[in-house]
This record gives sequence, structure tokens and C-alpha cells, in this order.
Amino acid sequence: MAEKMQADGVLSRQAVFVRYCLKFARKGECPVGERRLCYGCMDFKSSDDTVCPNCGYADDTPYDPNYIEPGTILSEKYVIGTMIGANSEGATYIGYNQSIGCRVLIREYMPQGLCSRVRGRAAISVDPKAVVQYKALMSEFADLNKSLAHMRNVDHINPTLDMFTANNTTYAVSEYLEGITLVDYLKDNAGELTWKQVSEMFPTFFTTLSLLHNNGIIHRAISPETIYVTDRNVLRLCAFSISAVRTVQAELP
Ligand SMILES: [Zn+2]
Repeated sequence: MAEKMQADGVLSRQAVFVRYCLKFARKGECPVGERRLCYGCMDFKSSDDTVCPNCGYADDTPYDPNYIEPGTILSEKYVIGTMIGANSEGATYIGYNQSIGCRVLIREYMPQGLCSRVRGRAAISVDPKAVVQYKALMSEFADLNKSLAHMRNVDHINPTLDMFTANNTTYAVSEYLEGITLVDYLKDNAGELTWKQVSEMFPTFFTTLSLLHNNGIIHRAISPETIYVTDRNVLRLCAFSISAVRTVQAELP
């Protein structure tokens, strides 16, 4: 997890607190009395707080039963938080890696029209008529994430860090990005970027696109909504999806 640095290079108070909490979380302990994870932001909060003081997530927030219930643990170490985005390929959840003690993004393969969530459970039920297509696309999903995992040294992407199977489907884990979409970044800059910003942010980003293409990875939906600007003003291309899904629904977020 990226830590926020102040201008003088000193860790912010928030970053110091998060580091403090993680030290205990790695050992499975609570840092201050009874503390527990907020499923909205995956920071620790007092168990007395029914509403997270950090992100405003309330404990009694209802969840969409088409997705995994927050608090579910997968692969014995990933705590699933709230679902933060979904498209026709699957869903993305904020998560928490208990082994390392950090926030992550967890992508769940769940193609629309081919499967559905079993009521009241995390498992996915595949339409019996679509099993072959479901498995073929899941294989593509796994191949894409293997390729992204092998590109960890490439700048400007958010590489896959881990992959596992559960609930009759496949999950891909990546770093939780601290930042905003390029759309919001442009809004914050009155819709314009200075030449200095462009010349610092884009040339190496385009080099990464060439590298991706050379490795057979075609994003097909590059837009200001799928490019993130990190808190260090570095562009990162996100929301890779398998080509078959992109072809079916070209305007995926
Ligand atoms: Zn929170």
C-alpha cells in the first residue's frame, strides 16, 4: 500500500497510524483495544464505531446479494470488503491481505448472463447451458492475469499479484491504488493539463502501451476513466478485461 508523504518527505500522521496498525494486523492482533476492519476502506476502526470515521461506511449498510458479503474471507487470507465496481466480465472488491497487512483490489470473474450468485452464499452457479463458454472465458481471464503478473516490472500498469480459485470461479489480486481517475484529475485541473504535466506524465505511459501490445495484451478500452493518476502523479492503466467481453460490450468502464 502506498503511504502518503508530505511535501518535506515526512510520513503523514495518517500513514504513521496505518503503519502502526499494520504491525499488529500482521500478527493478527488489534493495535488499540478492540479494533476491527472497516469493510468500506479497509482501515482499522474502533469496534465502538458503527460508522467509519475515515470513510463514512456504516456497519449496517446493506450489500447487493449478487456479490460477496463483506467480511467473507477467501483463500484463507483475503478479507472481502465492499464491491466497488462491476461490468460484464465480473466484479472488483476492496480487500485486505491478512498475511501482509495491506489493502488490495480483488477481481472476481463472474460474466453476466453465464452464471449467478447462489442465494445467501459466496458460491457462483454456472448456467448448465453455458458451462463450456464460462470455462473458456475463465481460462482467458486467467491467461490475461498471468500475463499481467509477469509484467510486474513494467511501469504504468497495475500488475496482478496473486490469483486463486474459489466459489467455482477465479480471482485476481492487485495492489490497491491510492489515486483518482484521469477524469477526476482533469476536473481538478479545470479540464486542462500544462505542457509540463503532459511532458512528465505521458511519454513513458505511451512506452508502456507499446510494451503491452508487443506482449499481445490489447486493452481496447483506454480512456480517462481507465487511467489512474496516483498520489505521486504517475499514470497507471487499469481495468483490463478479456477480449471476448470487450467485444460484446465495447463501452466497459
Ligand atoms: Zn472506512
